[in-house]
Amino acid sequence: MPELPEVETTRRGLAPVMIGRSVRRVVIRNHALRRPVPRELPRLITGATIRAVTRRAKYLLVDCGSGTLILHLGMSGRLWVVTDGAPATRHDHFDLELDSGAIVRLRDPRRFGLVLWRKGDVAGHPLLREIGPEPFSAEFDGAYLHRATRNRSAAIKLVLMDSHVVAGVGNIYANEALFRAGIAPRTAARRLTRSRCDALVRTVRATLELAIGAGGSTLRDYVASDGRAGYFQNQFLVYDRAGEPCSQCGASIRGIRQGQRSTYYCPTCQKA
Ligand SMILES: [Zn+2]
Repeated sequence: MPELPEVETTRRGLAPVMIGRSVRRVVIRNHALRRPVPRELPRLITGATIRAVTRRAKYLLVDCGSGTLILHLGMSGRLWVVTDGAPATRHDHFDLELDSGAIVRLRDPRRFGLVLWRKGDVAGHPLLREIGPEPFSAEFDGAYLHRATRNRSAAIKLVLMDSHVVAGVGNIYANEALFRAGIAPRTAARRLTRSRCDALVRTVRATLELAIGAGGSTLRDYVASDGRAGYFQNQFLVYDRAGEPCSQCGASIRGIRQGQRSTYYCPTCQKA
């Protein structure tokens, strides 16, 4: 499933191709994504000039002047740039053809992705307005996390994955950030001290930065490819490593379930 680093990597690949270009053609092959792709979209954005390509949580926002195209990769979506006129295949549901001839194409076999339109202020869209601060924003700091967790008795891992608290920290990165901060995933969020909140904010950022950096190294492939390349190979410290030795202490990494998701942690390095 594409998480924040993949979405940011995608954004960095698309921005230079899209910004300043105008939309020559919109092709919707399948309207039935998680929500219907608006039928009026071709009329709304054909001829529009793209002003910016930004990201909010895992949403990509394409500023078209009069409004914003909101894109989400869902469970299995990929966006990439077709420069050789390659024909669309079965799961290629949406094309945005630019005046340069490049085509930004969405492939999404499971169709949980989104292609939506928001006229005017995009931050006020119902899908976006409740989302907490971005992990790299100044607002997301130790003081904020400490404040936000004072009345939360739920496990810190679940709170970290709550998009109202912080945007876009998915399962993999919550596991990795907690390991780096030495915090046991089942610790009640409200028990974290201010200094542990400071540490956790640092490790959330470091973990995401590392993944974005790794994604960046395959960016060129991503943009030029058939959509297969570009998902970085991560070197996880705990994620998906149950039974393997901890890189810090050698203890066996444990795997448990929390809120229907897999949690991995080191029973020695991570303390409640
Ligand atoms: Zn350990």
